[in-house]
Amino acid sequence: MKRILNPNCKKVRGSHVLAVSCAHCKTFIAHYQKVGESNFVKMYNERIIDGAVDFSQYHGAIFCPNCNERIATRYMTKMDKKEAYRLVPSAFHKRKVTV
Ligand SMILES: [Zn+2]
Repeated sequence: MKRILNPNCKKVRGSHVLAVSCAHCKTFIAHYQKVGESNFVKMYNERIIDGAVDFSQYHGAIFCPNCNERIATRYMTKMDKKEAYRLVPSAFHKRKVTV
């Protein structure tokens, strides 16, 4: 599995790590530092640890590198004006992992 480190990643205290994968073909997409137990609807760029996609660059959308399914769409959060990706609800699987 190809993993490209995200140089924008900041360590988030008290977070747990989710492995996000494509719902269609199970291909690994990214490791993400999630805070709290709220619904997983977005990924802040700075909380993405690494991924199959190069997150040092901003993408208009995140596509599965294997089957090209759209996983998430780039947007700017309203509250804190941060680079983030809004996840397509049915396009991904997530599970807690330890890295
Ligand atoms: Zn896929």
